[in-house]
Amino acid sequence: MLGFDFARFSGMFDVVIAGAGPAGGHLARLLAGRGRSVLLVDAIPDWRHNPFSSAGLPLEALDRWGLPHGLVKARWRGLDIVSTAERGHWEGDRDRGAVLDFGELRAFLGQEACAQGAELRLGTRLVGWDALPEGGCRVRLASCAGIKEVQARVLVDATGPARAAFGLRPGTDYLYGVGLEHLVEVDEATYRRFGDRLVFYLGRGWVPGGYGWVFPMGQGRLKVGAGLFTVGRGAGRPGLEPFVQRLLREEVRAEARVLDTHGGVLRYARGLGDTYASGPVIAIGDAVSTLNVLGGEGIRFAMEGVEIALPFVEAALGDPGRGFHGYERAMKKRFRHSWNQCEALAIRKYLEEDDSRFDRMVRLLKKQDLDLLMDVLFHYRFGRALRAAGAGYLLGKLWRKLRGG
Ligand SMILES: Cc1cc2nc3c(=O)[nH]c(=O)nc-3n(C[C@H](O)[C@H](O)[C@H](O)COP(=O)(O)OP(=O)(O)OC[C@H]3O[C@@H](n4cnc5c(N)ncnc54)[C@H](O)[C@@H]3O)c2cc1C
Repeated sequence: MLGFDFARFSGMFDVVIAGAGPAGGHLARLLAGRGRSVLLVDAIPDWRHNPFSSAGLPLEALDRWGLPHGLVKARWRGLDIVSTAERGHWEGDRDRGAVLDFGELRAFLGQEACAQGAELRLGTRLVGWDALPEGGCRVRLASCAGIKEVQARVLVDATGPARAAFGLRPGTDYLYGVGLEHLVEVDEATYRRFGDRLVFYLGRGWVPGGYGWVFPMGQGRLKVGAGLFTVGRGAGRPGLEPFVQRLLREEVRAEARVLDTHGGVLRYARGLGDTYASGPVIAIGDAVSTLNVLGGEGIRFAMEGVEIALPFVEAALGDPGRGFHGYERAMKKRFRHSWNQCEALAIRKYLEEDDSRFDRMVRLLKKQDLDLLMDVLFHYRFGRALRAAGAGYLLGKLWRKLRGG
């Protein structure tokens, strides 16, 4: 699987997919399952390499995306939101979500694609492409063995924040996020305090310009992390370790053996201003900002975007001259409305507001039940949730204020 067997590996694929994250892996298994010849490549040397995502999901995502329950490391049924001066605690009577091992998720999707006939090369990165006059493109791939060229009728950019095929788009502003997470092992009593819930830490006291979290990972393990946002291209990587250490010291409050440290970046194009497709190349997943920037949640949306892209890829394979006409419109129809709201909220929440607003938000939400919170945090139904909960004047006012009205 590592690098290229140069002698054997040449020629033409229907589809080359760069990036074997949730988007690339899911598309590879769908296309291979339809009999398409697929080459899936990723820069990571092996599946265990830097499993950067906390991989917390609502439960319904498992069945919707055909993810086996064996991938689930822990289930959660409650949520806590801790701000500087407030502590909200919502208890559920049934499981609401899961935390996966991100490395195992990537491996599962890649292996499913291979079982359907896809070729997989890890340790291999997309370094360039040229459109061919007769249709399709020449794709340049680099591994430790050197540079290799293959041909593809369609090239898919699923490289997330790297956007390896198109690069960053001039004139587009990006919200840039960076996250750092420790996987730690704690004693049984400490694990029980966190074992059935996701805990989020908001406000400058915890992480200026971002938030912290503690997620359960089963078997006495917790994911303890911090992430923050900046507007711009994200030149330097801020030091997040002190924020994670503070969570360990003040919240976990126990001997914590660090088993792994990983981290990643997010790059979200404001106003969904990414390049979606050009010539024989189409971008999916975080490469076109399917990530919800408010919650930093992106796995299920990357996979949902794949299913929007699939008919366009099939159409382009059937008629190369057709390109991906209508794809950007279809994606924006699904994501633009909610994502614009979330983007505006994220900028206000993480970059502009002071801690007293977070405290007030937690104080107001404390009066609501877990269903409303799930609607806000995972279904992004702000208005409906507020109305349904009859939260009345105060929450309406808060919402208008958050939106800048
Ligand atoms: C710290 C952190 C915590 C998160 N927590 C959650 C969470 O709890 N729940 C959730 O749903 N989402 C979470 N997310 C977001 C989620 O992980 C992403 O939205 C999701 O992984 C996007 O999937 P993707 O396939 O589009 O891109 P990615 O998962 O980013 O995959 C892109 C792949 O492309 C590869 N690549 C990059 N450049 C090249 C190249 N030139 N050639 C070949 N391959 C290349 C990379 O190695 C990578 O494997 C988190 C993200 C971060 C950073």
